[in-house]
Amino acid sequence: MMATALGIDIGGTDLRVALIGDGGKVLSHARTATAASAGPDAVITQIVALAETLVHPLGSPNPDGIGIGSPGPLDADRGLVQSPPTLAGWHDVPLAEAIADRLKLPTALDNDGHVAALGEWRYGAARGATTFAYVTISTGIGGGIVVDGRMLRGEGGRAGHVGHMVTTDAPVRCVCGNLGCWEALASGTALARAARQAVTQAPHSLLARLATDRPADGRLVGEAARAGDAVALALLEAEARHIAAGLTSLIHLLSPQRIVIGGGLSALLDLMQPTIEAEVARRTMAVFHGVDIVAAELGLATGVIGAAALILAPDRVTRFAPRSHEEKVSP
Ligand SMILES: [Zn+2]
Repeated sequence: MMATALGIDIGGTDLRVALIGDGGKVLSHARTATAASAGPDAVITQIVALAETLVHPLGSPNPDGIGIGSPGPLDADRGLVQSPPTLAGWHDVPLAEAIADRLKLPTALDNDGHVAALGEWRYGAARGATTFAYVTISTGIGGGIVVDGRMLRGEGGRAGHVGHMVTTDAPVRCVCGNLGCWEALASGTALARAARQAVTQAPHSLLARLATDRPADGRLVGEAARAGDAVALALLEAEARHIAAGLTSLIHLLSPQRIVIGGGLSALLDLMQPTIEAEVARRTMAVFHGVDIVAAELGLATGVIGAAALILAPDRVTRFAPRSHEEKVSP
């Protein structure tokens, strides 16, 4: 019988649940808006309700387990979600145990960066690599790192917070409170900020005209750049150089075979790739030249597929079994 697992992707905006089969195939899926400001009990109730629409239809066999990708910081070894900035009221929530108990299936938890890296490693753009970095560039910058065939976990499973590497001495403030983080300069949020500024300075550009009824953001910059708008192309040129600064550090640190770029901005990678590659080549030592920089392959499903891989094709992750209530009352 085919192995299946339930993948749960808790985003600050969307909550996605999917039943995943062999090869990372999405068999069925469900989505709702995350009750991100309503506290952990509300989100756990949402997860259980969505999961039950997928795993308990009459006659369908139970999945082998449940994998959860959650925003960090979290402690994967203890199954705890600690205090994600995008989820209000979450402090040391024993999410893995709560879901295992409610859905009566073994459950594993990891942060969303590691989970996406695992998904791309097993089923996507990092297949076959033994050393690579996965970098997601969207609202922030996150990631997961695999070295010599093992996911780099670190104390509490918190390794791979690549967005908070310091890559500039420019006084840009990061959400973490520090100055000069890669995320503060190169995230989608940073690109949107630069785009809004450019629109006020170049009111006759195509980007400015597109931005009359919606605020300028990465998507709009991409649209204008593909139509040849010089302002948008210059924004992406600068963004590519900011991305390259962080990649240069990762390449020197890890000596990867490949860098996989995911998240919303990966949709613009083709426009930025020549500058990223030229800049990385200019800044890295010659022996590190030639690292492949590629777009992630799993798209919006990366989170649920990677989460399910915590059960179907894991790498050193703790599993939490459902607690048996019968045992507690027996003599
Ligand atoms: Zn930071």
